[in-house]
Amino acid sequence: MKELICIVCPNGCRLRVDEKNGCRVTGNSCPRGEEYGKNEILHPVRVLTGTVRLHGASLPRCPVKTRGPIPKEKLPEAARALCRVDVEAPVQTGDVVLADLCGTGVDLVATRTILP
Ligand code: SF4
Repeated sequence: MKELICIVCPNGCRLRVDEKNGCRVTGNSCPRGEEYGKNEILHPVRVLTGTVRLHGASLPRCPVKTRGPIPKEKLPEAARALCRVDVEAPVQTGDVVLADLCGTGVDLVATRTILP
């Protein structure tokens, strides 16, 4: 039995996931918690946020995030990849700054519009 805090909403329900019983989830207050609990055991994912180097603007960094969740085990490699990204202003919110981040199939996108 694995115990988790659900991070899907601010309620933070205490989940228990029975790995020996088909990953049966208890302690959730809604179906989203059941899905989160199962996924957290079977294939945990996270959205990565961070910044990359920015050129041609007064700000030195551009905030970015993955367009969707990526496998949790890919986070260290993906975070290192951000160090090798350079972006030139202007940048629009939603612009792809790195496609297919670390072979995850998920793009890294800008989360702020920055003009030169
Ligand atoms: S189980 Fe539902 S209500 Fe509880 S924290 Fe998760 S999403 Fe929120």
